[in-house]
Amino acid sequence: MSEPSFDERELILELFPGTDPDLLPPGEVLYYRDEDGKVHIAEEPLEMVLEPLEATPSTAPVLCEACLRQMSRASVQFFRFSVGPSGRRWRYLTLCRDTAQCNGLAEPRRLRELLRRSIISDG
Ligand SMILES: [Zn+2]
Repeated sequence: MSEPSFDERELILELFPGTDPDLLPPGEVLYYRDEDGKVHIAEEPLEMVLEPLEATPSTAPVLCEACLRQMSRASVQFFRFSVGPSGRRWRYLTLCRDTAQCNGLAEPRRLRELLRRSIISDG
C-alpha cells in the first residue's frame, strides 16, 4: 500500500544531478560513533552527523530509531542534526548509546530512512 515516492538513487540524482549512476554505491550504509562522541550515518555521497545532547529527565522506555528496540532511558541518547542545505534547522533523533551494538541490529534500509531526514526538510 505504501509505495515509495522515490528511491535513494533518484534522490541522490536529484540533489547531485551530475552524479553518474554507475558511481552510485550499491548500498553500504556506515553507522558509527567518532572519537568526539558524534554519530555518523553515511552512504556516499551523503553523510549525516548527529550531535549528542544532554539527557532530558524521563524514566519512560524510549524507542531507538535505528534498531527500533524499546530501550531503557539509560541505554539511549538524544541527538540533533541539521537539516537542509543551509543547515540552519535542527531535528532530533533517539539512538542507542551503544552504537556498535545498534549497528549490528539496525537494518541498512532503516539507516537510509534516517539519512534522508537530514536532506529533506518536510517540517
Ligand atoms: Zn539502537
